[in-house]
Amino acid sequence: MTEMVVATNEAPTGEARAAPRRRRRAAPAKTAAERFGVLPRPSLEYTPEVAAATAHLYEKVAHVIPAIEWPFHAPYVKAINDLKKVRNAVILAHNYMTPEIYHCVADVVGDSLQLARLAEKTDADIIVQGGVHFMAETSKVLSPEKTVLIPDGKAGCSLAASITAEDVRLLRRRFPGVPIVAYVNTSAEVKAEVDITCTSSNAVEVVESFGVDRVICLPDQYLARWVAANSKVKIITWKGSCEVHERFTGEELQAYRDADPSVRIIAHPECPPDVIAASDFAGSTAKMIDFVKHVPAGGRVVLVTECSMADNVASEAPQVEFVRPCNLCPHMKRITLPKILDALLEMKEEVVVDAEVAARARRAVERMIHLKN
Ligand code: SF4
Repeated sequence: MTEMVVATNEAPTGEARAAPRRRRRAAPAKTAAERFGVLPRPSLEYTPEVAAATAHLYEKVAHVIPAIEWPFHAPYVKAINDLKKVRNAVILAHNYMTPEIYHCVADVVGDSLQLARLAEKTDADIIVQGGVHFMAETSKVLSPEKTVLIPDGKAGCSLAASITAEDVRLLRRRFPGVPIVAYVNTSAEVKAEVDITCTSSNAVEVVESFGVDRVICLPDQYLARWVAANSKVKIITWKGSCEVHERFTGEELQAYRDADPSVRIIAHPECPPDVIAASDFAGSTAKMIDFVKHVPAGGRVVLVTECSMADNVASEAPQVEFVRPCNLCPHMKRITLPKILDALLEMKEEVVVDAEVAARARRAVERMIHLKN
């Protein structure tokens, strides 16, 4: 592993922090509710018609949702799927959304970048983000002409909240000439300040693309450690971490291996180094899913990530028995079927990104996309 430095936003003696730039966020002249109108609330009774219309969807989630709970979800599922047609809307659902969202109302599923890239290609007028706020911002940055809604604006992320645009400017001054790479789990304002973005699946490739011996890779200290372990480039990082993945421990995983030496342990690179060391494979959510699909029938897999992902992958890899030492992401769990329905009825909460910030953030994301291709 190469040398790694964890930077902070404490200014060294004699270095004053610059005053944060104040940016007025230009709101659209009219709200989304004014532009599209508010629709009346549909009936949410579980009728024979609702049962029939949603029966094929229940089959996809029957392995994780007991039959007794389906009458609560089904009316929302039907109402949301009807409303999507009325609104010409699509729902993008991250792999960490609950199964009734992921399998029953989503049009597109995937990791944060897969979602934003697919959002660009849709003809829909409205995007409803089943995910957290930085993901909705990324969709807006890549599809500025579309109306992007997030069903709960408080759905944040400990990684995105760990760093501000001013922190990035401070790092630029402190490490002049050193390229800055931001994980996609950052705000649009942070993306606007960096040279390029990365995902957990391409972070090593992005860092090495500069051909220099030092790169700043922020804000996830554990992803940065994983990059440093897989590259000769010296990494300067930030003190951010994912509050979900950092709770796993290597000791916990060793106990699973001791109980059954044949288990395959798969971890996300946002996990601490002792967890990665105890795993057979580390990769992005998309790569984890791919790995699981290739596990032979009867194999047992310990999926070290957010709880809903194991539930969602289980139906795609029925040959595998999942052991789920999972942790819930409280931010992702703010997104529910009732809130998605409200978003489509009342056209809230609209995600707005300043046009100049969006243009600079888009440049950083597109550099990564073109690098990949
Ligand atoms: S799982 Fe971690 S990185 Fe993902 S949204 Fe939740 S806090 Fe953020």
